[in-house]
Amino acid sequence: MLVSTILQHKPSGVITAAPNMTVEQLAALLATRKIGAVVVSNDGTALEGIVSERDIVRVLGQRGAAALSAPISSIMTSTVVTCTMDDRANSVLQRMTDGRFRHMPVMAGAAVVGMISIGDVVKARLSELAMEKDALEGMIKGF
Ligand code: AMP
Repeated sequence: MLVSTILQHKPSGVITAAPNMTVEQLAALLATRKIGAVVVSNDGTALEGIVSERDIVRVLGQRGAAALSAPISSIMTSTVVTCTMDDRANSVLQRMTDGRFRHMPVMAGAAVVGMISIGDVVKARLSELAMEKDALEGMIKGF
């Protein structure tokens, strides 16, 4: 299954946060939108970084509540692994597993056009495997 197919089953658009947003505001955004990570972008399309709930937990553990007023640019990951619409779910899952992260921005050239989570990819793979199983059963019963 392609990333483009996975994105078709998600609400369109991508949630981004400006680099100067505070950690406290980010926590509120993640809670309100019920998501685990956002793309950090100044203009909503250029990728500056990615920041996840794990980054918030890490900085709170290191610096305590004082970290809540820090800008998210100070806790984000700047070297971001991305994918494109034409990538396959398997390859995205492999890169997430290798890099030990659960989110991946989807790029069209220099613009961020979506975000997929490991949950989206696993769901897509499970439905693909179920279809393969049905097809194989159909072939066996046809003999
Ligand atoms: P996550 O598992 O997505 O909550 O992220 C775990 C850590 O990896 C956090 O420090 C994130 O900032 C970072 N991270 C998340 N997604 C990516 C990605 N696609 N490329 C590089 N780092 C990432």
